Amino acid sequence: MHYTDTQLLIDGEWTAAQDERTRPVLNPATGEEIGTVAHASRPDLDRALAAVERGFDVWRAMTPAARSRIMRRAAELVRERADTIARLMTMEQGKPLSESLGETLAAADIIDWFAEEGFRVYGRTVPSRHDLAVRQLVVKDPVGPVAAFAPWNFPINQVVRKLAPALASGCSMLVKAPDETPASPAELIRAFHDAGIPDGVLSLVYGTSREISAYVIPHPVIRKITFTGSTEVGKQLAALAGLHMKRSSMELGGHAPVIVCDDADLELAIATMSRAKFRNAGQVCVSPTRFLVDEKVVDEFSDGMARAAKALTVGNGLAETTEMGPLANARRLDSMKALQADAEEKGATVLAGGRQMAGSGYFWEPTVLTDVPVHADVFNDEPFGPVAAIRSFRDLDEAIVEANRLSFGLAGYGFTRSLAHADALTRGVEVGMMWINMPSTPSAELPFGGVKESGYGSEGGPEAMECYLNTRTVSTLHR
Ligand code: NAD
Repeated sequence: MHYTDTQLLIDGEWTAAQDERTRPVLNPATGEEIGTVAHASRPDLDRALAAVERGFDVWRAMTPAARSRIMRRAAELVRERADTIARLMTMEQGKPLSESLGETLAAADIIDWFAEEGFRVYGRTVPSRHDLAVRQLVVKDPVGPVAAFAPWNFPINQVVRKLAPALASGCSMLVKAPDETPASPAELIRAFHDAGIPDGVLSLVYGTSREISAYVIPHPVIRKITFTGSTEVGKQLAALAGLHMKRSSMELGGHAPVIVCDDADLELAIATMSRAKFRNAGQVCVSPTRFLVDEKVVDEFSDGMARAAKALTVGNGLAETTEMGPLANARRLDSMKALQADAEEKGATVLAGGRQMAGSGYFWEPTVLTDVPVHADVFNDEPFGPVAAIRSFRDLDEAIVEANRLSFGLAGYGFTRSLAHADALTRGVEVGMMWINMPSTPSAELPFGGVKESGYGSEGGPEAMECYLNTRTVSTLHR
C-alpha cells in the first residue's frame, strides 16, 4: 500500500498550502521519507478561520438529530476504512498494526457515543424564590469555534477525543493535527467530510505548531482551545488563552506511579503492566512509569518485568508478529539515550534493554531498570518511551508520598488483594484516573483527564461535553 501525501481541508475543500509549501513525512521504522504534508501559512489560516466562523453558524442551527446522523455516518465510514487507515498510521507513527487498528475502531465508538450524547444537552428549570410567574431557565449553548492542537502519539485518538464532543455540542473546529503523523488524522476528518458535514464546520491544518497557536489562539474567531501535549507547552498555551480570556482544556503530561503491594497477585501485575508499559513503545500519557514495589516482592516483580521485556518481538509495525514498534521520531531516541545514561550514572541496575537497536529506524530496546534512585531523571521527567523504572518501598504511606511527590497527576495504578490497601491507594494517590489490579481502560463514557499539572478539562463522558458548552441563565416573567 502506498502512503498518501496529506493536504489541508479548508471550507470543505482539500487543498495544497497557498504557497505550495510541504514538509517530508518519515517512516520511523526505516527513517525514510514516505510522503509529504502541506504546511499552512498565514493566508491559509485566515481562510480556515473564516470558514470555521461561517461553519459554526450553520452547525449550531442544525438539530441534534441532524448532527447526530452525520456523526454516525462518519463513524461508519471510519469502520469501513479502518484497515487502510491503520496501515497509514503504522507507516507514519510506527506502532504495531493491531494497535493502529484498535485506535481507529475505538475512534468510531467515540464518535457514536458522542453522537448520542448530543441529544442530552438539557439545561434545567429553576423555581423562582419570589414569584411563580417567573420562569428561570438554565440553558447550554455551544461555546463557538474551537481550535484543537493534537500530538503524534495517538494520531487519531487525540483528535477524535476533541472533535466528537465539540461537534456533538454544536461547535465548529479548526484542527491543527500533528505534522509527523498527518495522513491518519486526515482520514478521520475525511470521514466527516464524506459523511456530509457542512463546509467550514471542520478545518484541518498542518504547519509550525508554535506559529499557528500564537496566531490562532488570540484570534477573535476562536472561542476555546484544547491541547494535548507536554505540560511545558500546555502552560504556555493556557497562559496565552488566559490573556485573551479564552476557555481552554489541557490534557498534559503524566508520570504514572504503579504501587505494587506485598499482597498483590504478582503474575497479574507483571502481565498487565508489561503489556501497558510497552504499548505504543511507552509513548502514552497514562503509561505506567514509576514502579514502586514493596521490598518483599520487588525482586520477583522486577525479574518478571525483565522476562516480559526480553520476550517482546520488536520490529516494523507492519509485520504481523511485531509486538512493539520503533519510537515515533528521532527526538524520542535522543531522549531515551539521555535518560538511560543518567540512570546508569546514578546507580540504577539494568535488568533488560537500555540500548538503541542496531539498524535503521528509531528502535529502542524494551528496558527495565531497578534500584532507580529517586533523583534520577527517569523518575522525575516524563519518559515517554519503553522504560520501566523500579524502586522498592517499605511501607505503603511512604509509597503514596513518593507517588505524589511530582507535580504530575494524570494516571496511577495499584496492585493489591487487600481492600484496605486499595482504599488507601484510591484516596491517597493524587491522580485524575486510578486503576486497581488492571490496566487503563479509557472509553468514551468515562471522564479522561488529569489533576495538578497534568491539566484540566475532560476528554470523555458528559464532562467532555461541558468543555464545549456555555451555561447561560434566562428569566422570563409570564404576566
Ligand atoms: P513538544 O512538547 O514540543 O510537542 C508536543 C506536542 O505539542 C506536539 O504535537 C507539538 O506539535 C505540540 N506543540 C509544541 N509546541 C506547541 C506550541 N507552541 N503550540 C501548539 N502546539 C505545540 O515536543 P515533542 O517532542 O513532540 O514531545 C515531547 C514531550 O511531550 C513528550 O516527551 C511527552 O512528554 C509530551 N507529549 C505528551 C503527549 C500526551 O499524550 N499527553 C503527547 C505528545 C507529547
